Amino acid sequence: MRVLIGGGSGFVGRELIQMLRGKGHEVTIISRQPGPGRITWAALESGGLPHCEGVVNLAGENIMNPMRWWNNHYKKDLVSSRVDTTRALAHAIAASTTPPHSWVLITGVACYKPCLQTQYTEDSEWVPFDFLSQLVKEWEEAARLPENAAKNIRQVVIRPGAVLGRDGGAMKQMLTPFRLGLGGPLGSGRQPFPWIHVSDLAGIIAQSLEPSRSPLSPHPEVFNGVAPSLKTNFEFTKELGHLLKRPTMFPVPGFFLDTMLGSERAVILTQGQRVIPKRTLESGYKFQYQDLRMGEKVLKADVGST
Ligand code: NDP
Repeated sequence: MRVLIGGGSGFVGRELIQMLRGKGHEVTIISRQPGPGRITWAALESGGLPHCEGVVNLAGENIMNPMRWWNNHYKKDLVSSRVDTTRALAHAIAASTTPPHSWVLITGVACYKPCLQTQYTEDSEWVPFDFLSQLVKEWEEAARLPENAAKNIRQVVIRPGAVLGRDGGAMKQMLTPFRLGLGGPLGSGRQPFPWIHVSDLAGIIAQSLEPSRSPLSPHPEVFNGVAPSLKTNFEFTKELGHLLKRPTMFPVPGFFLDTMLGSERAVILTQGQRVIPKRTLESGYKFQYQDLRMGEKVLKADVGST
């Protein structure tokens, strides 16, 4: 299969590409930078969709970029880098005379309102309630194909929690304070911490790229990209501290994170959602990393030597 991946040069993309190439698939990246094995977004808009069987969009300005101050300019970049790239791909797919059989978008669990009790599955109703949930709404809407194109193309939306893995994402940013003995629960620590290992997210994307075995729906299939075992931020912090043999006594106050990151973005850390991968499990996907404790494999593999 030939697969086109918007934003494939990033953390999740690198894992996905390795997995797809390992299965014998051909991959082309869409990037802002030209290079071998790549096309640019401008080339997609002018030249249309290259011939491919599967399309994925992973493009997006990093929400947790510590170098960027939370302001309207950054928020605009967060939205446009996701919504405009997704819309460009949806238009190119709909206009293609040889369309792919699958179109997969990766968004996030920020659509579900943080709550200590409510459990969310892919069937849960939600309405936007803050900046990030509004972003998810616009992002997923931008991916929708017109009815005539949707008849023949499998549309999938995957909503991951924090993606853990050695080469990037949340883990990379967390390791330094932990190694310095400054890691601690964030805010109250009681908030759920929906997470997924990067190889499982890549696995769910790869599965979603396969042609559908059931009749196609005009609506996208949604899969929650979270590990089946739910942890709180406190439990996750303890596991990580234990593996790194570092103390985790010092809680990081919510107001500090609000000030440093901006309260609209700090909610990713200080609040959380109890998200269940109900349909992901029903689809037959077998998680490699179900639980943080699984032989301590998930953290050890990514923490490496301390
Ligand atoms: P990365 O931060 O690694 O970025 C992916 C790619 O997006 C980059 O390699 C870059 O490609 C492209 N990109 C960055 N900024 C812009 C921009 N301003 N305009 C256009 N393209 C841009 O993302 P991840 O791989 O970690 O995540 C993939 C997707 O999954 C993202 O949409 C993210 O929001 C979502 N997600 C990630 C989570 C995580 O914990 N990592 C959690 C939940 C959702 P290039 O430089 O080649 O153009």
